[in-house]
Amino acid sequence: MPEYDAVVIGAGNGGLTGALTLARAGRKVLLLERHNVPGGCATSFVRGRFEFEVALHQLSGMGSAERPGPLRAILNDLGVMDKLEFVEMENLYRVVWPDTFDITLCAERNAIVENLQERFPKEKDNIPRFFDLVYGFSMEMVQGLFFRDPNISKEKYPLFFKYAITPTQKVLDEYFSDPLLKAVLSIYWSYAGVPPTWLSFGDFAIMLFAYIEFKPYHLKGGSQALSNALLDEFINNGGEVRFNCGAQRIVTRGGRVTGVRTEQGDMVQTRYVLSNASMLQTYLDLMDPDEVPKETIEGFRSTSIGPSAFSIYMGLDCEPDEIGIQETTNFITTTTDMDAAFARWKTLEQQGVALLTCYDVSDPDFSPPGTCQAAYVTLQYGDPWYLVPPHQYYDAKYRYAEGMMELAEKVFPGIRGHIEEMEIATPMTHLR
Ligand SMILES: Cc1cc2nc3c(=O)[nH]c(=O)nc-3n(C[C@H](O)[C@H](O)[C@H](O)COP(=O)(O)OP(=O)(O)OC[C@H]3O[C@@H](n4cnc5c(N)ncnc54)[C@H](O)[C@@H]3O)c2cc1C
Repeated sequence: MPEYDAVVIGAGNGGLTGALTLARAGRKVLLLERHNVPGGCATSFVRGRFEFEVALHQLSGMGSAERPGPLRAILNDLGVMDKLEFVEMENLYRVVWPDTFDITLCAERNAIVENLQERFPKEKDNIPRFFDLVYGFSMEMVQGLFFRDPNISKEKYPLFFKYAITPTQKVLDEYFSDPLLKAVLSIYWSYAGVPPTWLSFGDFAIMLFAYIEFKPYHLKGGSQALSNALLDEFINNGGEVRFNCGAQRIVTRGGRVTGVRTEQGDMVQTRYVLSNASMLQTYLDLMDPDEVPKETIEGFRSTSIGPSAFSIYMGLDCEPDEIGIQETTNFITTTTDMDAAFARWKTLEQQGVALLTCYDVSDPDFSPPGTCQAAYVTLQYGDPWYLVPPHQYYDAKYRYAEGMMELAEKVFPGIRGHIEEMEIATPMTHLR
């Protein structure tokens, strides 16, 4: 029976990073992946002459070579940085309420403040105050938490203690009265998957701060390039990988891991398993729940499963500007009531917030000459899709996509007529 220092289950970016870290430390590692390509969500697929990016819209934490962000430092440590090419996006995002309001924020603090002051003159004084808070808070968080200050106190980190777990909406309400301005500023909530009334200001502020300070990035070749680079480096460091080979069971004896049984029925001996499968799958399906510490199972009671996504991947037979796509990142929204928008993620009703990303704006070589691709997505819970009977699934999927395309047409008239390839993914597709 083959024996390894560690078995890593899943070759998503988490599993690849863990496997590579262990292999670089000289460990004998086996990586098991159920799918036939590495990457998990961070992958691509081909239709016609387009290679579609599945997931990555805006990479955060890169920073420049002169001013590296945390992600650049990690990729350097993993030995893959020189195999990758990154493109900085000029702007944070455009956010549009069709026929009502349209604004683009660039990725520079002072320019954002000036732009917002011009568009929201009644809030002129509050806007710089708000950014002082975002920056002041984030610096405290970086200093205290990320650099692990051993002497954390309320006196030393007053903003952190006051705002870390305060709902973002409460802070926005404290600073502003215009609901449109609050919605413009907080639109990244839809990346986090919870509305501003739930999203802690800590999570929101550090996200906005990091995107502005380290800039949003696009990866040449998409996220598949990163997944491939991590896998190559893992193999170069002596790692072994098996694709089309799911883990079926983490085998334990007397409270200790002894091995992993694959879906093909092979047994692999190891004392350590690093699981990139979800927590629920790892502890409830791959293990005997009786072997899992009670507090781990208890911990599930205080958590809930987050949203998945409904995605439309479009290969378009035109350059972006021919249909008015000027920005890489375009939020399209129909409401300023983000709680209502969030509530719709749990239904098959049309969405209140969607995101259309066109990588070709930042990286004109991304698609073949004279074409571009748009990833058009809204987050959505899996629950309503589980309830659709199989014989109604395609109908529900295309009806839903139809509604999203109607919304896209309001911002990019004529987009439909340029679709050369199209693929639609519901939460069920992403799950599979
Ligand atoms: C539509 C969409 C858009 C996104 N946009 C962004 C973005 O703009 N910016 C950003 O930073 N993030 C984005 N993300 C999130 C990001 O892609 C994911 O958080 C990240 O890729 C998750 O990596 P992971 O390794 O944790 O998990 P996954 O990518 O889910 O990897 C898990 C892997 O484990 C494998 N696996 C599971 N069970 C088993 C088993 N029993 N045996 C063997 N293998 C198994 C799976 O096949 C999979 O390969 C997006 C995600 C989606 C879906």
